[in-house]
Amino acid sequence: MATAFIFLGEGGCRYCKGDGDCELEFEFEGKKQKARGCIRRMITTQSRLFLNFYQHYKNGFLLCEGGLLNQPAKYVQAMSIINNEVAKLEKELNRNGR
Ligand SMILES: [Zn+2]
Repeated sequence: MATAFIFLGEGGCRYCKGDGDCELEFEFEGKKQKARGCIRRMITTQSRLFLNFYQHYKNGFLLCEGGLLNQPAKYVQAMSIINNEVAKLEKELNRNGR
């Protein structure tokens, strides 16, 4: 899957409160494109929570006491998905020399 880079400019979601019809500027497969929408509306509370957990996960702190096998399956799956996406993004950023 190709990675899309989203730039949050003045008219984008950088300053919106999720109630806007924002201008999204993004790069997809090397081409810059524009669209209207709102990134904040696409991110659920659960997604935001998992993204926060991911920071702790990377620092070695798990959600529940014990090892990886003691964690809820949904949590382990979410950390795995986020980790794979971060790795893909880092690989692509390195390839593009950013
Ligand atoms: Zn927005």
